[in-house]
Amino acid sequence: MIRISDRIFSSVFELEQALVEAASKGELVLTATSRLSRRVLHCYRLGRIKRKDLGWKTPTIFGFNRWIKNTFDTLWEHFRPLSRLGALRLWDEVTQRIELPEGLRPGPSLNLRLQEAFDLLSRHGQALVGPSSGHTLADWRREVFKHFLALLEKNQYIPWTEILERVGKAVAERKISLPENIILAGFNELANAEEGFVKVLADKSKVEIWRALKNPDQNMKVRVYATPELECQSICAQVLKSWNSGQKRLGVVFFDQDYFKLLKRSFEELADREERSPNALRYNLTMGTPLSEHPLFQTALLPLRLLDETQPNALLSSLLFSPYVMRPQNGWDPAIKTSLWSSDGANTLKDALFRLKDIGCPIQPLQNLSLYQKKPMKVWLQDLESLWSHLGFPISRCETDTLAKEHLLKILGELRKEVGHLEMGRNEVQAWFKAASQGIEVVEKTPETAGIQILNLVESRGLSFDHLWVVGVHGRALPQPVRDLPFLDSGEIQKVEGGTVEKQWETGQKNLFCLLAAAPHVTFSRAISKDEDFPFLPCPLIPDESSHEGSPYTVDLWKEPSEEMLRIRWLREGLKGVRRRSKKLRETIEESVNFPLPKSLGVTQFEDLLICPFKFFAKNLLDLEPLEEQKVGIEPKERGGVIHKILKEFTQGLAAAVPDWPDDKGKALEFLEKTVDNILGRYLEDPFWQVERLRLLGDAESPGLLKEWLEKERERASEGWGFEVAEESFEELSIGDTGILLNGRVDRVDSHPEKGKALWDYKTSDSPPDREVLEDMVRPQLPAYLLSLKQGHLPRLGEWSGQVKAGYITLKKASEVEIEDLKNVDWEDFLPRWKEWVKKRLEGPLKGLYSADPKPPPSSLQNEGACKHCPFPNLCDFKAQGVREEEGSEDLQEGDS
Ligand code: SF4
Repeated sequence: MIRISDRIFSSVFELEQALVEAASKGELVLTATSRLSRRVLHCYRLGRIKRKDLGWKTPTIFGFNRWIKNTFDTLWEHFRPLSRLGALRLWDEVTQRIELPEGLRPGPSLNLRLQEAFDLLSRHGQALVGPSSGHTLADWRREVFKHFLALLEKNQYIPWTEILERVGKAVAERKISLPENIILAGFNELANAEEGFVKVLADKSKVEIWRALKNPDQNMKVRVYATPELECQSICAQVLKSWNSGQKRLGVVFFDQDYFKLLKRSFEELADREERSPNALRYNLTMGTPLSEHPLFQTALLPLRLLDETQPNALLSSLLFSPYVMRPQNGWDPAIKTSLWSSDGANTLKDALFRLKDIGCPIQPLQNLSLYQKKPMKVWLQDLESLWSHLGFPISRCETDTLAKEHLLKILGELRKEVGHLEMGRNEVQAWFKAASQGIEVVEKTPETAGIQILNLVESRGLSFDHLWVVGVHGRALPQPVRDLPFLDSGEIQKVEGGTVEKQWETGQKNLFCLLAAAPHVTFSRAISKDEDFPFLPCPLIPDESSHEGSPYTVDLWKEPSEEMLRIRWLREGLKGVRRRSKKLRETIEESVNFPLPKSLGVTQFEDLLICPFKFFAKNLLDLEPLEEQKVGIEPKERGGVIHKILKEFTQGLAAAVPDWPDDKGKALEFLEKTVDNILGRYLEDPFWQVERLRLLGDAESPGLLKEWLEKERERASEGWGFEVAEESFEELSIGDTGILLNGRVDRVDSHPEKGKALWDYKTSDSPPDREVLEDMVRPQLPAYLLSLKQGHLPRLGEWSGQVKAGYITLKKASEVEIEDLKNVDWEDFLPRWKEWVKKRLEGPLKGLYSADPKPPPSSLQNEGACKHCPFPNLCDFKAQGVREEEGSEDLQEGDS
């Protein structure tokens, strides 16, 4: 009776506990990966140690494939399991015999594709041979498979599916004893061959398939970063943070090899100079460098590449100066360099070899290697090994070199054994090496029990974590695209794993459910693109999560390095350098600027200084000017000057021209028009000034700015105010004991028999808010005018200690003409306070320090407050200073995690 049941756990942790318990009861546990079996064994051992057990029997926990293979070995069959190179050799033999369809080239890469199709079809219980389906490549493949199966038989090889069958048969015949219960763990799905075998097991024992699955929830999102590098750096820092907070079962799952490289680099940087203490950061890498990319392996094959080089010097140098090659004699290096690189150096390989031989370089076997175009593989290998031995290759310098060397020597032995007799050219030899190395990685030995595991999806099956990060979750990773299966017809493709979009979607969903069950916290992320030409699509199974601004997440290492990221040495050193430099730069600026504050300043310059010392420095001492904008019409400054002139002429000439002022309004108007025309004079040939005249004087349809002003002045005149002086200059006005002397000109002074005097400043644009005069104190015009009047600096007025007002006459447009003094101000109280404030404000500039210190300051780091119309925001560094201050000024702590 077949007894198979499914048991679903809501978390991998529960599954793990249950597996340990089942193992301790003596049940047979077969896991999807060897890593999972080792993890369960490790947990079992830890449990025993915790219970203080002194000894125990190793439980029956095995990786499924390993258990099958070990069991098969106990059967003493006279057939051997088909090795990869053995299979490639047989495929090679078959494809030599059968004519290839157009477009296919014989060789190891074709053989690998045929083996892939063979494995897939046989595991999924599909017919390997059979009637034609009309699909050219599939029909050709059937023919090839027929011969391949015959060769398998002849060579007494058996493929994986047949091993399963033979072990299944032994189980059925009770040649293998099984426990009452068998548990299969960590399998997403079983292919037909494995399923058939499990049914055989289930006929003898009770079989349970245990899985942990969890449904996604609404909050699940994929965090989007700008690039994969940024994503990996950020994720690794998050992992480290969790590690530092005490979590010790952390995992990072990736979908493609490129991500693995980035993660490896990021962790290496984070673990830089890590002490090997018990609490040190320990991580386990489940992947390594593909053997074909390892420099030792590449150096081994350099001699074969050399034979085709028309300019061999570079490759010869790489070989002879490789760290994997021993250089026996002192003084050998310069001789080789001279031989290869002098101006009369060798050009062809033959020439180069001749010269190298001449200086005693043991390169002779390279000549043997090039002797024949075609020869048996074993002769190629012999010549290659002879050259290696002459060069003292390979020298291993680290653990991974030793591993790469072991793989290389193993491949050498297998090639000799399997294809040693095959005759081939050097390109084919390279192709065989490449095919033989495919799938082999040089994996640095890192402890599998380390707290941080960096794994691919398959290796992560059935492992439980406190927190799992899944990186690279884009539309071509989850779900994966359909597989490219050129040797299968459409009917076959429908039935194999990864053949259709539907199947991949289903697999993607299952993978997602497994990942979600792996930890209580699972974080998904992806990059928006690999590079500019390779954007990633969003994962259709999980929505994206971008930053608040809707853009991808970025991590500015230089501005916002997290505590964890400061473990990266290059970043730490770089930041220290930048900060030292900017600190020094700031100090240098503060101490050595050689622009003393001038003793004598104009009021407008003085205003710049009070508003922001740096603005004053840039504009008045460095004489920097903003780039001139293209303007149409009259310059505002020129327009202001002309209006000032008109008003001066008018106010000074009014008493004589209009004796009945303010009663004679008509004559006053006439005089105003006459003054305007006099001053504008030749300007009026310019159409822009004609329009300006209209703006100032108006016509039947529109009011004129100056006419509106005149009306307001008439009202004031009726109250008793009279024009006293206009454009009255003052010089060397001292502002407290600052040592600064101001020069300026009061636009107008009025007088009243009872109310004293009024000082006015004309404004042809907006007047400053009262707050900037009275509270911020950065508008010096009115206080300076008042001081000049009080101290007798206005020549036509002398000293004045009576009542006084001050304000602005705003002449921006006809509808907004205003004559307003600042209300409720006690100038007697204000002026000493202002002088005191100015003294403080000038402390820095008087020492040559012109800091970017805007008043009023911007309320945020945008250009507001005093910075709003300043042309120097890119020079003053004020915004960056703000950011630095927000970051805090503490020095970085080295290596602090
Ligand atoms: S932008 Fe602001 S801080 Fe910079 S110079 Fe101008 S006013 Fe000063």
